[in-house]
Amino acid sequence: MVDFSSLAQKYGSPLYVYDFDVITQKFTVLKEAFKARKSLICFAAKANSNLSVLKHIAKLGAGCDCVSIGEVKRALHVGIPKYKIIFSGVGKRDDEIEEALKNDILMINLESEEEMGRVEMIAQKLGVIARISIRVNPNIDAKTHPYISTGLHENKFGVDIDSAKRMYIHAKNSTSLDPVGIHFHIGSQITEVEPFREAALVLANLVRNLKSLKIDIKFFDVGGGVGIQYKDETTIPLYDYAQAIFSALSGLDVTLVCEPGRYLVGDCGYFLTRVLYEKNNGFKRFVIVDGAMNDLIRPSLYGAYHEIEVYGKENAQETSLADVVGPICESGDFFAKNIELPSLEHDDLLVVKSAGAYGFTMSSNYNSRSRVAEVALEEGEDRLIRQRESFEDLIALERKYL
Ligand SMILES: *Cc1c(COP(=O)(O)O)cnc(C)c1O
Repeated sequence: MVDFSSLAQKYGSPLYVYDFDVITQKFTVLKEAFKARKSLICFAAKANSNLSVLKHIAKLGAGCDCVSIGEVKRALHVGIPKYKIIFSGVGKRDDEIEEALKNDILMINLESEEEMGRVEMIAQKLGVIARISIRVNPNIDAKTHPYISTGLHENKFGVDIDSAKRMYIHAKNSTSLDPVGIHFHIGSQITEVEPFREAALVLANLVRNLKSLKIDIKFFDVGGGVGIQYKDETTIPLYDYAQAIFSALSGLDVTLVCEPGRYLVGDCGYFLTRVLYEKNNGFKRFVIVDGAMNDLIRPSLYGAYHEIEVYGKENAQETSLADVVGPICESGDFFAKNIELPSLEHDDLLVVKSAGAYGFTMSSNYNSRSRVAEVALEEGEDRLIRQRESFEDLIALERKYL
């Protein structure tokens, strides 16, 4: 068990802690599951884009799936090779497309015919050929939270099969576009293999169809979405996941691309927060902590569950129900509702688990709270990888008032 108490003392609270050895282990399992085929694992940077995390991922040999030019630049900054960088996302600005093309990344993932038009125009202007992939929305229910479900026609993502086919034909005939890939991403925190199997089958058929039109797809991108265990979910055995995709791809000579975010970094992270005080209003017991929804918004945004342990009091016998809440002026500012907790004192340390994905990257300065520090654990050593923001950092970009 990690000595969270010393870490909180050394680096202050609240604090994010990431165990890099866990990332390595998760990466190795995934790579092993895919070993029967050529594969490229592109980490979805939006899950955790700290430069040291990206550097660690780069050292493992992974690429990056990016959803803004900022993420593309982060990936390049830590030395991820350009041929392992993908630019996805439902809306890209012209200047982002231009910079991605100038950096000659592996491919740009298109999500509409309109976007293809912009990319074609910009590539033409620059005198380059844009390698593109098309995100196909297979209309499959990933059976996850509606906010993180993306593969249904009611979602804004991707294009339907008929539009995709039209787009591929257009791209093939364009002198500025090279259609090299096909892509789906049906949602996040998926805990069953079936939606992946169905989506892979639908897209593999489209690839065969395109082949007969002399459109040769080289990269088959199955997106991210593999879930982790936050509470009592059963997760997908990666061997089954890989086999389901392999069987859909049978007979096709393509490189398998996968874009895991949460799977790679979710379990490695802990959010540490100290108890300020308890408050009981006669109806309810509240544990008020120094961390808040601006630091970790998943419970507020999705009603997500994160297991919480009281460091040093994990085995306390006497507990009662409490809500763990932050200091922000919103009723939605909570980390847990109605969980059993022992009696707590000022400075007791709570460990919020599985906080490595969509934690820090979704944090904000709401209520003029400084974003917290981030620490890496690697082979028994801890090191600061992002300093806590100061008041000066908070106001740094604001102009002097008159
Ligand atoms: C968010 C996202 C991912 C990663 O999703 P996870 O559920 O974290 O694995 C992968 N691909 C795309 C296009 C995304 O938007």
